[in-house]
Amino acid sequence: MPEWEIHRALVIGLLATSVVVLVSLLFLTAPYGRHLRQGWGPTLPAHWAWVAMETPSVLVFAAVYFWGDNAWQLTALILLGLWQLHYLSRTFVYPFRLRNRSQRMPLIIAAMAFLFTCVNSYVNARWLTHFGEYPDSWIKSPAFIIGAVLFLLGFIINQHADRVLLNLRKPGDTRYYIPTGGLYRFISCPNYFGEILTWIGWAIAVWSMAGLAFAVFTIANLLPRALSNHRWYREQFDNYPVDRKAIIPKLL
Ligand code: NDP
Repeated sequence: MPEWEIHRALVIGLLATSVVVLVSLLFLTAPYGRHLRQGWGPTLPAHWAWVAMETPSVLVFAAVYFWGDNAWQLTALILLGLWQLHYLSRTFVYPFRLRNRSQRMPLIIAAMAFLFTCVNSYVNARWLTHFGEYPDSWIKSPAFIIGAVLFLLGFIINQHADRVLLNLRKPGDTRYYIPTGGLYRFISCPNYFGEILTWIGWAIAVWSMAGLAFAVFTIANLLPRALSNHRWYREQFDNYPVDRKAIIPKLL
């Protein structure tokens, strides 16, 4: 089977998986973080699980990227920089800022995420430097400019929202608090909102089915979780702000 057919099959697989993930997560909240519960098999320390499941997004992506013939083209290098900006932080900074070091994550969740990040990194990196075409003129295209701006905006929102959550606790604290400030004034999960914006920006900037599949998967994964987190906040806190929505200000 030629490689382009394998690549296409994996992209279609990611899109099909997104549908399964969306429908499943609307009925079953993924058992990690505040939704961790018994019955999901062996668990790992959550911060190490984050490092393990996100490492392919840095290493597999970089290896596949530099395997391609177009790795030294300026546009592709800028896109590599955007991707690694997000994933170096997610993989090697974020996990070590988690305050609750006793938190666990089911091995099955980490294993599924690991598999996803391997496939997703391959399809996106291979498109950038092998199957796709990104001449220098692409940098001036509306798709690249709009996509890169959305990516960076999403990155800033996601970083800020994660920082607010992590600063709610002192080291060792395991309690939950009502987050405030920034987009928390309007929605319960600006971290997911920022993450979704990031990958929509990516999909627009790279203008490929691989990028689209990742954006669709991120929405399928994080939209139901935002609804679950929002429901959870309302159940836990009597004084939870009544006009705060789950993930889209004033709407959802
Ligand atoms: P959460 O919001 O569930 O938790 C983030 C961290 O903050 C955890 O350490 C959590 O503790 C703590 N925390 C959360 N809410 C509170 C609160 N109210 N009071 C005190 N501490 C709190 O985020 P996720 O773990 O689901 O995701 C983390 C990051 O990873 C996000 O930026 C997200 O966008 C990204 N992500 C991306 C995905 C994708 O598909 N691209 C998939 C999943 C995540 P505890 O663990 O104890 O609950």
